[in-house]
Amino acid sequence: MWNWQPLGHGVETLFLVTPLTWWINFGVHIYQYKGFQIDAGPLRTLRYTSRAEALFITHTHEDHAGGASRLSLPIFTGKEAAYLLQNPPPLPLYRRLVWGTVKPVPAQAAERVGSFFLVPTPGHSPEHVIVYDEETGVVFGGDLFLSVKANLASPGFNVQALIHSLKKVIELAPRRFFCAHAGAVEEPVKALKAKVDFLELTRDQALLLKRKGLRPSEIRDRLFGGESAWALLSGGIMSRLRFVYALLDES
Ligand SMILES: [Zn+2]
Repeated sequence: MWNWQPLGHGVETLFLVTPLTWWINFGVHIYQYKGFQIDAGPLRTLRYTSRAEALFITHTHEDHAGGASRLSLPIFTGKEAAYLLQNPPPLPLYRRLVWGTVKPVPAQAAERVGSFFLVPTPGHSPEHVIVYDEETGVVFGGDLFLSVKANLASPGFNVQALIHSLKKVIELAPRRFFCAHAGAVEEPVKALKAKVDFLELTRDQALLLKRKGLRPSEIRDRLFGGESAWALLSGGIMSRLRFVYALLDES
């Protein structure tokens, strides 16, 4: 389980879970490619070895960045993420318990490292970047995609920014796309376009229901059939209600 799995085309992955997430098989994929590692995984996970010589961090959520403090690799990320990695804000108890904390680490802001571009893609979180290899068209998408119909939002989530970022990545025409939660995404351009369509359609429906006088919780129930179990599990940090507020631009 803790061995790197080859995915073809020189990409390897590890799927990392924590003592509190393994039973629902919820974890995060980290990747190795061309001597780089993409994301570090959480701190509260088993130790693994990395053959990489440097680390890219897509964003500073604890399931992606927490493990960076024990890797002692040079870290490259976007400008905002570099600041946050050096000055991590305190995390709510739930997030510390589930994934572990994020300790300060030195990180370098970069737009380009070798053939890799770190492309700002805010939306899931403001500091999010994807890693794009211009030589091969391989993209490591962090939490940009997740799934076409992902409808959970956490603090910092912004629908308009996400739509804009998805369109930016579609323009890059990625040949292969590796998501931190979904793994390898088949036909990435088609999948990313489907997500844009879902977000635009759902936003229009939410705004229409608002004009009809429905409250955000009623809009959530109408669009998604109620709240997700994650809202309870996360103490309200991740929820569909927050997603609806983002659709209405009221977050
Ligand atoms: Zn995230």
